[in-house]
Amino acid sequence: MGRFDGRVAIVTGGTRGIGRAIVDLLHSEGCTVVVFARNRDVGEALQQEMDRSRFYAVDVSDSEQVSVAVKEAHKEFGRIDFLVNNAGITRDQLAMRMDISSWRDVIGVNLEGAYNCIHACLRPMMRAKSGAIVSIGSVVGEMGNVGQANYAASKAGLIGLSRSVAKEVGSRGIRVNVVSPGFITTEMTDSLGDDVRSEYVARIPLKREGTPAEVAQVVAFLLSPQASYITGQVVGVNGGLFP
Ligand code: NAD
Repeated sequence: MGRFDGRVAIVTGGTRGIGRAIVDLLHSEGCTVVVFARNRDVGEALQQEMDRSRFYAVDVSDSEQVSVAVKEAHKEFGRIDFLVNNAGITRDQLAMRMDISSWRDVIGVNLEGAYNCIHACLRPMMRAKSGAIVSIGSVVGEMGNVGQANYAASKAGLIGLSRSVAKEVGSRGIRVNVVSPGFITTEMTDSLGDDVRSEYVARIPLKREGTPAEVAQVVAFLLSPQASYITGQVVGVNGGLFP
């Protein structure tokens, strides 16, 4: 018996990195996983290799694509218990030099994309009078970071979005939380040079980067009945970097 037997989760950006670790953990505990991502080849391969999984080619920043895919998933599986807003991008630049398209792209995927998914999933969750939503924020959204004004704003925005929706839907049995990772080893952080990496690690009390699996464990906990009295919270998985 798994913790999530018979449950259905939508995980955005679930084809790699932290999203893939979340997909693997939820699936291993009995969940059916619906992955919204852009990379069709990787998504279709995932669907082939994993039973109880379905891939939809969805750009989360497109509200129409999200709405159609959520309706199809709900029709196919008859329920949507969990939403994990994990899809995220960076377009780093100092604020003074940042062009408006870098600002809009990051806000469009990281913040508006999460809103689109929450908006589309709330109706089936409200009808079921149950559900749990976790959005992946970032320590950068809490601390700020040089060269990441767009990213930090998008991740800080997720906190306000989640705390507001938590207040709106708590009485309907739906919980909404944010998991805020620190420095996690994934393809997103691969592009950083070794000197930047060791500088970051030196500032982390646990003196190492985190793993996607360590983030996934906290996401799964917040989705699970063990977290039944936790909503509107931001849970840091950052090796002690903040606060
Ligand atoms: P990643 O780049 O490895 O994966 C991101 C995933 O999101 C990919 O599967 C990508 O295809 C998908 N994606 C991007 N834009 C999309 C869109 N418009 N529609 C649908 N899918 C889209 O990144 P990661 O490191 O695994 O990060 C996952 C999440 O965790 C992101 O929200 C990121 O901001 C956050 N985060 C990462 C770190 C870290 O150190 N890696 C730290 C804090 C927060």
